[in-house]
Amino acid sequence: GFKMGIVGLPNVGKSTLFNALTRTAAAQAANFPFCTIEPNVGEVAVPDARLDTLAEIAGSKQIIPTRMTFVDIAGLVKGASKGEGLGNQFLANIRETDAIAHVLRCFEDGDVTHVEGRVDPVADAEVIETELMLADMESIEKRLVNIVRKVRGGDKEAVQQERLLRTAMAALEDGKPARTVEVDEDDKKAWKMLQLLTSKPILYVCNVDEASSATGNEFSKKVAQMAAEQGAASVVISAQIEEEISQLEADEAEMFLSEMGLEEAGLDRLIRAGYELLHLETYFTVGPKEARAWTIKQGTRAPQAAGVIHGDFEKGFIRAETIAYDDFVTLGGEQPAKEAGKMRAEGKAYTVKDGDVLHFLFNN
Ligand code: GDP
Repeated sequence: GFKMGIVGLPNVGKSTLFNALTRTAAAQAANFPFCTIEPNVGEVAVPDARLDTLAEIAGSKQIIPTRMTFVDIAGLVKGASKGEGLGNQFLANIRETDAIAHVLRCFEDGDVTHVEGRVDPVADAEVIETELMLADMESIEKRLVNIVRKVRGGDKEAVQQERLLRTAMAALEDGKPARTVEVDEDDKKAWKMLQLLTSKPILYVCNVDEASSATGNEFSKKVAQMAAEQGAASVVISAQIEEEISQLEADEAEMFLSEMGLEEAGLDRLIRAGYELLHLETYFTVGPKEARAWTIKQGTRAPQAAGVIHGDFEKGFIRAETIAYDDFVTLGGEQPAKEAGKMRAEGKAYTVKDGDVLHFLFNN
């Protein structure tokens, strides 16, 4: 599955947000055992109304949404890269994530101490980014020692790694995070394997006061501007409200939202923003037993998409019977779609599209 790390300075609302995310009724209602894997790791259902529509048409007994993992990564403070705060463990935690949700304090509250003594989300973002850049530089330096040795020994992969590490280092020394480096197609895989902290895509989460939850405020506007300049994404959320909503039943939550002038829970927006940030898509498997959503990267071909369900599906892949979501819904289900000639047989080269309803045929 895909994993988002929640980072930010202390007291910005990370834990509040994490609790809201993982305790929400929506996260749990969805017929899969909600699990807190570890105290700071939780799985969340990705909200997708299409899945309910498909289940209704097919009369599926069970609805199983696709999931996303969130990790609450505490301990990032100024000096963290020097081993202050929680030290290296949390850097390792960040390294394992696919993307970063960077929570920024965009609310004033005299009762909640700000570690830097003022509310300035753009400056806060820089504090964290600087720590991550320093940590990257340190790890690159360490790794280069080994890699240079391997290059001398004639290791071809090491040649590529050395080149990429030096490119990243040049950017960092220039004050730019590794995500600003443009990487050739041939280098993309090796680049990702470097797991540089500042190469991960960022979603800025503006934690605003209750009154600003629908509109945002001056602080969140500055963050939005910063995000736009960096080509990053941002969302406005009130972690405290979200935590309150997460305690409510679905219909109560809906009423509460409309009273606040919100169309949907901020958490839904947050999860979907994460999905977009990671260039993820959803395909569906639909039958009388269950309707289920599966997550793939954009551009995934049919056998690899099948592999998300089970490794054997990929190995023995024969073909995928495919119905586009719109056809499935407009025509009223699998059988009518088939009769209308809208079920296609697709082979190994087929690139799965968002919303595809699929059946896989495979050899055991
Ligand atoms: P963390 O250290 O980043 O995990 O921060 P917490 O989630 O523990 O929150 C720190 C404090 O700020 C707690 O007392 C929260 O109740 C409070 N807090 C979190 N979000 C908000 C918010 O949106 N508004 C206000 N006024 N307080 C908040």
